[in-house]
Amino acid sequence: MKTHVRVLVIGGGVVGVSTLYHLTRKGWADVALIERTELTAGSTWHAAGLLPLFNMSYTVGQLHKYSVDLYKRLPQETGQDVSFHVTGNLRLATCKERMDEYQKYCGTANTIGVPFEVIGPARVKELWPLIELGGSADTPALIGALYHPHDGHIAPADLTMALRKGARNAGAEIYEHTEALAFERVASGEWRVRTSQGDIRAEHLVLATGNYARQTGRLLGLNVPAIPVEHQYIVYDESPELKAYRQGGGRELAVLREPDKSYYLREERMGWILGPYEHGAPARFADGVPDWFGRSLFPGDLDRLVPHVEAATRRVPALEHCGIKDIVNGPISYAPDGSPLIGPAWGLRNVWINEGHSFGITAAGGAGWQLAEWIVEGEPGIDMLGVDPRRFGAYTSKRFLVQKNEETYRNVFTIHFPDEERPDARPAKTSAVYDRLDARGAVWGQRYGWERANWFAPPGVERRDRWSFRRSNYFEHVGNEARLMRERAGVIDLTPFTKHEVTGPGAEAWLDGLVANKVPSKTGRLALCHALTRRGGIRSEFTVTKIAERHYYVVSAGAAERYDSDYLFKSLPGDGSVGLRNITNTRGCFVLAGPKSREVLAQLTDTPLDNASFPWLTAQTIEAGLAVEVYALRVNFVGALGWELHFPVEYAHHLFDALFEAGKAHGIGMVGMRAMESLRLEKSYRMWGSDMTPDYTPFEAGLDRFVRMNKGPFIGREALEKQLAAGVPNRFVTLEVHGVSDADPLGNEPLFEPGGRVIGRATSGYYGHCLRKSLAIGYTRAEFAQPGTQLAIEILGERKQATVLRESPYDPDNLDLRA
Ligand SMILES: Cc1cc2nc3c(=O)[nH]c(=O)nc-3n(C[C@H](O)[C@H](O)[C@H](O)COP(=O)(O)OP(=O)(O)OC[C@H]3O[C@@H](n4cnc5c(N)ncnc54)[C@H](O)[C@@H]3O)c2cc1C
Repeated sequence: MKTHVRVLVIGGGVVGVSTLYHLTRKGWADVALIERTELTAGSTWHAAGLLPLFNMSYTVGQLHKYSVDLYKRLPQETGQDVSFHVTGNLRLATCKERMDEYQKYCGTANTIGVPFEVIGPARVKELWPLIELGGSADTPALIGALYHPHDGHIAPADLTMALRKGARNAGAEIYEHTEALAFERVASGEWRVRTSQGDIRAEHLVLATGNYARQTGRLLGLNVPAIPVEHQYIVYDESPELKAYRQGGGRELAVLREPDKSYYLREERMGWILGPYEHGAPARFADGVPDWFGRSLFPGDLDRLVPHVEAATRRVPALEHCGIKDIVNGPISYAPDGSPLIGPAWGLRNVWINEGHSFGITAAGGAGWQLAEWIVEGEPGIDMLGVDPRRFGAYTSKRFLVQKNEETYRNVFTIHFPDEERPDARPAKTSAVYDRLDARGAVWGQRYGWERANWFAPPGVERRDRWSFRRSNYFEHVGNEARLMRERAGVIDLTPFTKHEVTGPGAEAWLDGLVANKVPSKTGRLALCHALTRRGGIRSEFTVTKIAERHYYVVSAGAAERYDSDYLFKSLPGDGSVGLRNITNTRGCFVLAGPKSREVLAQLTDTPLDNASFPWLTAQTIEAGLAVEVYALRVNFVGALGWELHFPVEYAHHLFDALFEAGKAHGIGMVGMRAMESLRLEKSYRMWGSDMTPDYTPFEAGLDRFVRMNKGPFIGREALEKQLAAGVPNRFVTLEVHGVSDADPLGNEPLFEPGGRVIGRATSGYYGHCLRKSLAIGYTRAEFAQPGTQLAIEILGERKQATVLRESPYDPDNLDLRA
């Protein structure tokens, strides 16, 4: 066994081996993998081998697409067959909302280039002659289906062996029966791994340990948010009907999914494999995998399977005539949102995570591809925010994970509404004024563990969402909140904001080197600053305020807490000249905005608030009511006169009550997240994570005014220079969408030029309640970004005409903000 390697991959399932393979493809041959028993001994050996291209996530969709393409060429490259049956994949729909979901997915598929067909029942029958089209109470009529002709199923062990062969041919080493037992960082910065076969030193570690993710993480002090859930499928004996159909010349049937009944079905040796996602499947191994669990399975639980078997048998009566050969019930790793964890570990250098894979056979190719890119190049090649392990924070307690993962599992096949808010493990993290907002009718959502009020139900209105892809029950109330903000004064509780304090003699220079804008040098000034990737993409957005000499207050998206904090801490200079503290939980934040906001705040403070004393884009530390040390920032995300009040959290109740008391005469009210979405789109404000991502540079994003190319070096600058020289390929656009009746754009819709070619994508969309326009923002090829250009956008399968507007259709000259 080697004693030193550049990268050591821990875990020999399909994901670990794929990572190893891709590292060699990137030219790193001095890499090795250790596996505690044998390759594929974890979840990989018993997987059903389905490779669904379908995924609602922009990132995961791209990873799956890469995998399917890779698996098709692997046999030729390695000489190892992988039994890839390109049967196609049929997802049935029995209700209109399901078709809406497929149509929404098609938008994403179009933007990432995944081929699909939306088909009707007659075509379903043609493709799948053994199906019942239904029409009774217990077998609803099919109304259509989504068909992916190019995916199918594969033999997971063969796939792993092909990847192994490819990696070994390129010089990688694989050591079986070698368990990682302990990790230690040595003086050189490398990792010393104690294994059951001796020590290995490595520059980089990759954790790909599947069901063992939590215990592997614990060895490094990481609480990896992945806990497996039981998943079972039934293997049937030969089916006479299927046999007759195949012997009659019928081609292998497409993998069939009936999501409305939560099961998948595929052929297996003239019989079937039927796999449901059942209610009641328990999370397992929350405290680690016990020693007795090797290559084992759990006993099958027929009671859980029965409703799905019955539904499938009604849809495919051929199932009735074949006996059950086996039930495979194994652990399947899950993260709370169902997407894998791929990327750097937080708080540790050169430790990489490739865990939490619930569709690991499908994702392995893409996950290995991008992780290898990240390790070798320092950055991934595509936007990986949707799978970055740092999208979760410290709140993922064991009980949270158990509840959320069980919930995610049983919802694999439910309709993924864009406004869905799942109820389990809630409320967990709340702002101090949660009860006050609740008393005002808050209808809650959850993001990064925080409860956030999406909207407020007025008295007498039902406090619940009717989830939909279209305008729904809360539409009118969200509109009222948006208008309240534009006409009077509104309050938004944005306590979840990520907040850091940067101090010390080196604070300014350090921050300045991290971001593209000039960090303010004058106390009381603030600036919107973007940290870029080395490729020039947008990695983070910070509002940087100079509070005092050598003291900055840095605010970023609430959901980016661990992501941003990890980046900032890892970027700190080693000379002690900069102090950095994550103070997210020590300060609350209320946005007070609207034309009456000055009059409201004036009643609470002696600080003059007139334009000369407190101009737009400045900040002051004020007293507000009885609260001291309130950072008042004259900015907001809704485009109105107003202040963000960042206060010591102990004043939350007092300040909230004082604001509402002072605002009573002005008709002050609460405003939720959905109204904020509407308001910010009217101002063309970009949101981190959807409109600002590593896929686009600030020039593409139209954020040129926040880039100072002449200020000196900053990360990403060289890439920006190259882009300027070569020409900026895409441009940010704001679109008015015409002819919308009930389905506004929501993001991830393809944009077409008049000739019908895809020339961009919407990254967000909503109804602008004050402008009374359906709006989208996004990116097009540069030549289509001129105001007035006529484009088309596809919303739920319908092409709508869209006009490129001048930026900020509401108040383009910012008169409200400067009022
Ligand atoms: C019944 C069932 C059906 C499934 N069907 C499908 C499907 O159709 N399609 C699909 O895409 N996915 C499917 N899956 C999911 C799929 O099996 C997993 O997502 C995938 O196998 C995960 O691969 P992995 O490499 O991450 O983990 P694993 O395959 O579990 O590999 C992890 C490896 O790490 C090793 N290891 C752990 N700790 C250490 C250590 N300290 N030192 C050394 N080695 C260590 C383990 O021994 C193990 O071999 C199914 C899962 C189940 C349970």
